[in-house]
Amino acid sequence: MSFKSLNITDPILRSLNEEGYSTPTEIQSRAIPIALKGNDLLASAQTGTGKTAAFAIPVLQNLGANPQKRGQKKIRSLVVTPTRELAIQIDESFRNYGRYTGLIGTTVYGGVSQKRQVKKLKKGVDILTATPGRLLDLMNQGHISLSDVEVFVLDEADRMLDMGFIHDIKKIRKALPKKHQTLFFSATMPRAIVKLSNSILHNPSKVEVEPESPTVDAIKQGVYFVEKKNKKALLIDILQDAGIESALVFTRTKRNANNVVKLLNKQNINAEAIHGNKSQSARQRALGNFKDQKTRVLVATDIAARGIDVDELKYVINYEVPNEPETYVHRIGRTGRAGSDGTALSFVDSVERAYIRDIQKLIGKQIPVMDEHEFATANHNTAVSQSNHQSSNSSRRNKKKRPSGRKRKFRSRR
Ligand code: AMP
Repeated sequence: MSFKSLNITDPILRSLNEEGYSTPTEIQSRAIPIALKGNDLLASAQTGTGKTAAFAIPVLQNLGANPQKRGQKKIRSLVVTPTRELAIQIDESFRNYGRYTGLIGTTVYGGVSQKRQVKKLKKGVDILTATPGRLLDLMNQGHISLSDVEVFVLDEADRMLDMGFIHDIKKIRKALPKKHQTLFFSATMPRAIVKLSNSILHNPSKVEVEPESPTVDAIKQGVYFVEKKNKKALLIDILQDAGIESALVFTRTKRNANNVVKLLNKQNINAEAIHGNKSQSARQRALGNFKDQKTRVLVATDIAARGIDVDELKYVINYEVPNEPETYVHRIGRTGRAGSDGTALSFVDSVERAYIRDIQKLIGKQIPVMDEHEFATANHNTAVSQSNHQSSNSSRRNKKKRPSGRKRKFRSRR
C-alpha cells in the first residue's frame, strides 16, 4: 500500500516523501479514505501509530482542494488536543505535511502571552490547533470564531476527559456550525468516551488499531525489582552505560522529576526536567535541548510528556511505575515509534508490583525480569504470574551479589 493508492494528491505526496514516509501506517491506511470522503470518524489508536498524519493528511487535502479566497480569514479546521506540547507538535505536523498546499496553520495554548497568538490569528489561519482553555479564552475575547469550521478534530479524547476538559469540549462544540465533519481520536475507549463520541458524532465509521500494535511489539521491555531507596543508585548505574545516548525518564510527580534531575546532574549526567510547573518556554527549551542531544536525559511527568515526539528515542525508563496501565503504554510509546526499535525499563518497588500485574494484563504479555543487577530484591516472582518459571530461579540467583563494575545488560532472559 502506498500513499498514492490512498488518492493523496501531489502537493501532499511530495512533502510526505520529504518526511521519509514511504508507506502509510495501519491507522493511516484505514482512516484516511474515510476522512477524505467527509464522513465522521471514531478512531481508537494510541500514540506512536501515526495518528496525527491520519487526520492531518485528509484535512489538508480536503481544505486544499477548495482554498478560501484571498482576504478571507475563516478558520476552516479546528484541532483540539489536551496539552501544549501536543498542540505544538500537531501544528508542526500540519506545516510539514501541508508545506506545498498554501494552507496556513497556527496554534494557541496557555502558559504564554496571548499577544503573538492573537497577531497570527488576525493574519488569518485555515487550521487552528488548540488546547481547550486558551481556545475558550480567545473565543470569549472575540479573537476566534468557530462558525466556519468544516472539520473538527478531537485528539486524545480519553486524556482530555482525564484532565477534566469535558465541559470545555461541550462549550467548544456548541460554537461549531451545525454542519461539520468530526474526526474523533482516542487511545482507549472507556465507557465515558463512547458516550461522548455518541453525543457528537453522526453515523461515524469506526477504526480500531489494536493496542498490541507492531509499534509496541517493537519495544524491548524489562522490569527491575528494586527497593524504593535503591532506585537512585540503579538509575545512575544504568546510565553509566555510554551506549544509552539519550533516555526519557518518567516520574509520577513534579517534585520527584526535579529530584532525579538534581541527582543526575550531581553525577555529571546532563539532565533536565519537563513538567507542568515549568514555564512553557522552559519546557520547550528542555525539549529542544533533548532533541538536539545537548541534554542526555529528559525527566518528565506524564502530562508534560504527552506530546513528546523525539525521533530515534531508544530508551524510556519508568523510574516510577504508573498506576494506570494505559499510561504505561503511552509512556513506552515514546520509543519504538513508526517501526524503529526501543527499550523500556521499569523500576518496580513493592507497592508498584500490583501496577505491573495490571500492565501485563493490559498488554497481554509478561515483561521479562532484569535480574542481573546488584539492587535486585529477592522474591520478585510474586509480581509475575505463575507461568513465568524463570522468576524463582532468578530470585535465588539475586541473593548472590554480582561483583560491582560488571556491565549491566539490557537483554532479557526470555
Ligand atoms: P504519532 O502517532 O502521530 O505521534 O506519530 C508517531 C511518529 O511516526 C511520528 O514521529 C511521525 O513522524 C511518524 N510517522 C507517522 N506516519 C508515518 C509513516 N507513514 N511513515 C513513517 N513515519 C511515520
